[in-house]
Amino acid sequence: MGTTFSIELSDVESPAAVAKLETDGPAVVEERGTVLYIEDNISNLALVQGILERRPGISLITAMQGRFGIDLARNNLPDVILLDLNLPDIGGDEVQQLLRNDVRTAPIPVIMLSADATPGQAERFKSAGVVAYLTKPLDVAEFLRVLDMALAEAVA
Ligand code: MN
Repeated sequence: MGTTFSIELSDVESPAAVAKLETDGPAVVEERGTVLYIEDNISNLALVQGILERRPGISLITAMQGRFGIDLARNNLPDVILLDLNLPDIGGDEVQQLLRNDVRTAPIPVIMLSADATPGQAERFKSAGVVAYLTKPLDVAEFLRVLDMALAEAVA
């Protein structure tokens, strides 16, 4: 009987604790999707991780090499892919082509993040199918606007 009583007590306590967390914390976290970031620069990875930590509901997975990024994309089917141009193994342009040529990953919106602001690059990648070509240093507001747009597209 004593055992039953203590179990009942903990049952009463936990819903209250959960309710308190929900009222104190930010509004119920809405699942917004998984973002894969393929980038070899640790500072850039940390920057994007820091930005996305302030956006609840987004899970970030990362790859520091192109081929590993493609494997992660095939296995995890993220909602959006952020892609660097200069990677240690294969170029971001090749990664993007390989993603597009695979029926599993072809529908995933790709946002290029590159330090290369050469005129014509953005147009070249957009005609190859990327949703946006953002140059570094990253304009955070622009990045979030494009990411939200891509996530909304992925959900639709
Ligand atoms: Mn790079």
